[in-house]
Amino acid sequence: MVWLFVYAAALIAAVAWYALRRQRIHAQHAAELQQAVAAGLVEPPSLHPVIDPVLCIGSSSCVQVCPEEALGIVNGKATLTNASACIGHGACMAACPFDAIQLVFGTERRGIDIPEITPEFESNVPGLFIAGELGGMGLIRKAAEQGRQAIAAVRKRKGGDFPYDVVIVGCGPAGLSAGLAAMEHQLRYKLLEQEDSLGGAVFHYPRNKIAMTAPVELALIGKVNFGEVQKEKLLEFWQGVVAKTGLKIAFRECLQEVLPEGGGFVVRTTRHEYRTRSVLLAMGRRGTPRKLGVPGEEVPKVVYRLIDPAQYQGQAVLVVGGGDSALEAAVALAEEPGTTVTLSYRSEAFSRVKPKNRQRLEQAQQAGRIQVLLGSTVQAIEDRRVVLQTTQGELTLRNDAVIVCAGGLLPTPLLQKMGIRFETKYGTV
Ligand SMILES: Cc1cc2nc3c(=O)[nH]c(=O)nc-3n(C[C@H](O)[C@H](O)[C@H](O)COP(=O)(O)OP(=O)(O)OC[C@H]3O[C@@H](n4cnc5c(N)ncnc54)[C@H](O)[C@@H]3O)c2cc1C
Ligand code: SF4
Repeated sequence: MVWLFVYAAALIAAVAWYALRRQRIHAQHAAELQQAVAAGLVEPPSLHPVIDPVLCIGSSSCVQVCPEEALGIVNGKATLTNASACIGHGACMAACPFDAIQLVFGTERRGIDIPEITPEFESNVPGLFIAGELGGMGLIRKAAEQGRQAIAAVRKRKGGDFPYDVVIVGCGPAGLSAGLAAMEHQLRYKLLEQEDSLGGAVFHYPRNKIAMTAPVELALIGKVNFGEVQKEKLLEFWQGVVAKTGLKIAFRECLQEVLPEGGGFVVRTTRHEYRTRSVLLAMGRRGTPRKLGVPGEEVPKVVYRLIDPAQYQGQAVLVVGGGDSALEAAVALAEEPGTTVTLSYRSEAFSRVKPKNRQRLEQAQQAGRIQVLLGSTVQAIEDRRVVLQTTQGELTLRNDAVIVCAGGLLPTPLLQKMGIRFETKYGTV
């Protein structure tokens, strides 16, 4: 009898502990949602889950599998509490035991433009192919698969007298895989990348981020099975693939225009012009970094992303922008010994930024490690100085480097100019 009592008491204690813990976690999820709303970060970038509140019983299965910690339980139901972190894995949908989750593009307020493509990855413009995230579907594996499959379709286009069979634009997972397939099939290819590094979106993941990726088939390499892999290791693997296969990549060459010509295309970039039978656009959706458009911007000390803060030790650096990447860059630079960091933003306040970044910036500002110039614009970049227009008038600062974090120009207008048709999705599959 006593044993029964002891067992019952232990059971009640365990249930109470579990309920309390659940309550605490759910309160934390609600707070995260509140913070995201306050920061204006409620729109997911692209593909994301929509939860049916009638079917959802708050089992938490989706929350537990989400690798980006984008979901939480609020008021007993699964909720996208950290929408801007969702990358559309779909792991949540697969994990839901009640089929309460659907993946959709865009939201009622923010439509997402998805190009119309055939199952062979050809757009409505014959000979213009689209693979990877630009076509709507993200994920490393899907992008790589599509790159390889698109080249299979490119091969079928014969005829014409062109120096190239295909120009591939972008060297993320889709472009890399397409380049390898082009090599395997002995196509005359040109692989362009606007940046000076390969890997596309993966290169820009936060340091040490674990990427999750299902097995993928790469031409010339075979089946690659990573599972969970650190970003740095994945990039190392791809660099090894390039070295081993001799895949040629034209870095720092940005696509500007594609014009139809004689059954093929003329591809204009920032450096050259190529005549080709087909074009494969594997440009992702991040776009091209927005420039300031001021005199002196073309010098090498101006860059559009921070790679290694340590390289700026002892230097006077101007960071331009008001989003999370600008704040993160300024704070990271301020932690390096001897840097003098100024953050210039044209608006009067930082609006859509994560609370933790705002807090870190304020701390660095209070400690005198960063000078923040709100309501300021860059007027000119000179060899050892920058000229800014501020609310107090013109200001000249000593300067060794400028890091512009002013967002990207989305690829949609460029593609529309090529004649590619889009469908705008407002929260539909
Ligand atoms: C933070 C984050 C975490 C993620 N985590 C995962 C994960 O764990 N697992 C997973 O499977 N997926 C993950 N993803 C998604 C995955 O990274 C992308 O779906 C994938 O990289 C898409 O590959 P892509 O080749 O289509 O495009 P991208 O990787 O975006 O590459 C496109 C390339 O084209 C170049 N380019 C663009 N415009 C031009 C131009 N005009 N001229 C020349 N070059 C140009 C770009 O510089 C870029 O290098 C994550 C995404 C993000 C943002
Ligand atoms: S789609 Fe992926 S990242 Fe988005 S909530 Fe679901 S599991 Fe998380």
